Amino acid sequence: MDVMLDSFNQGLGKETNAKAAVKMFPTYVRSVPDGTETGKVLALDLGGTNFRILLISLDGQEVNMESKIFLIPQAIMTGTGEQLFDHIAECIHKFMKDHDLLFHKIPLGFTFSFPCRQEGLNKAILTHWTKGFKCAGVEGHDIVQLLHEAIERRGDIDVNCLAVINDTVGALMSCAHEDRKCAVGLILGTGTNACYIETLENTELWDGDTDEPHQVMINTEWGALGNDGSLDFIMTDYDKQVDKHSINAGQQIYEKMISGMYMGEIARLVIEKLRKAKLLFNGKGSEELSERGRFYTKYVSEIESDGDDSSFKCTKQVFAELNLTKYTDEDCRIVQYVCSLVSTRAAYLASAGIATLLNKMNRPEVTIGVDGSLYRFHPHFHDLMEEKIRQLVKPGIKFKLMLSHDGSGKGAAIVTAVANRLALEKEQKLNAKNGIPNGE
Ligand code: ADP
Ligand code: MG
Repeated sequence: MDVMLDSFNQGLGKETNAKAAVKMFPTYVRSVPDGTETGKVLALDLGGTNFRILLISLDGQEVNMESKIFLIPQAIMTGTGEQLFDHIAECIHKFMKDHDLLFHKIPLGFTFSFPCRQEGLNKAILTHWTKGFKCAGVEGHDIVQLLHEAIERRGDIDVNCLAVINDTVGALMSCAHEDRKCAVGLILGTGTNACYIETLENTELWDGDTDEPHQVMINTEWGALGNDGSLDFIMTDYDKQVDKHSINAGQQIYEKMISGMYMGEIARLVIEKLRKAKLLFNGKGSEELSERGRFYTKYVSEIESDGDDSSFKCTKQVFAELNLTKYTDEDCRIVQYVCSLVSTRAAYLASAGIATLLNKMNRPEVTIGVDGSLYRFHPHFHDLMEEKIRQLVKPGIKFKLMLSHDGSGKGAAIVTAVANRLALEKEQKLNAKNGIPNGE
């Protein structure tokens, strides 16, 4: 927690930000929804495992959405930026065609969950790729401009991207739509990250207006904690191996100890070490077990869900998928124990981050909006975190971990609907001033 707080403060400071591992990017989202947001919005969700397009209708508390998942082929994830954005534009076209929207002008919100330095609500410069993406020619560029260029190259759809948000902000906004005490957004999915509401006074980097409210959401990008070596004292050999074989070695150190893209691999490395030492499976493994990345994080959830069940139903199913045929009950128990150690460490590390934020914000009561498959599907993550955060926060601080439902879509829709309303109001004012009747 000391390391985390120190990194937060370095990121927030004007002088120290350039060298800080944790960038604490101010977003241009200043307040939580008030429940009056309305309109039809197209939302994109790109940030790791799936790419989704959503069509969302907001009408106060009423939210309707339709969505579709599109695949981003591996070749595009590590190809060029032009290929990536052409692919995205093609998916948008397909989606609009399927929903009879081709000849409509519709505002778009983009949940783009990679570290971006924002210069406005719809200007977001990617600082670097994470989570398995590495498209050439995007780092250092405004992703809205790249998207608009791809849309123009096609020339057959009329969408205007009004807002870029991070998935953490999406989780916060979607939960705040139901619970006004929500002031932190947390992601535990492919990667991990958090955002929170900070005062403008504490945000030296803020260069927007200083109107009410005197606060702004900060996208911490805390996955990068440790990039400066500050977590070396808790890195294990397994962490070092995971890092070494990643496409972003030396980066996202905290994320690699916690999130879904890496947790299964950490467990696999421990299991393999035990096997090689003949402490598991009598020393005999399988090709699958020896393959990097082949022990999926969902296996950790499945194995742990057996609990005290001595029939080891799920564990045995995972073993079958890994082509492991000869094992004892003791082997099952040991693998289960390894998985629980790896996931408990992850949950505790994430809890330390959340407790640092809660203590720093020092509000009497805070709801944390959480999204991501790791949190959603792991059998104990929620309970482990609740218990650990309670131990770590200052006495008197109350908190609640709330699962966000489709935060990346709903959050983008809320922010975009507000941006769209403000843009229309501005246009109407201008028209009135120039004597042009509205709607023309
Ligand atoms: P994203 O973060 O890309 O938006 P998700 O929230 O769906 O996507 O998270 C995907 C990650 O969740 C993957 O890394 C995957 O390994 C992990 N995951 C998927 N299913 C489970 C599960 N049942 N238990 C734990 N982790 C899971
Ligand atoms: Mg997501």
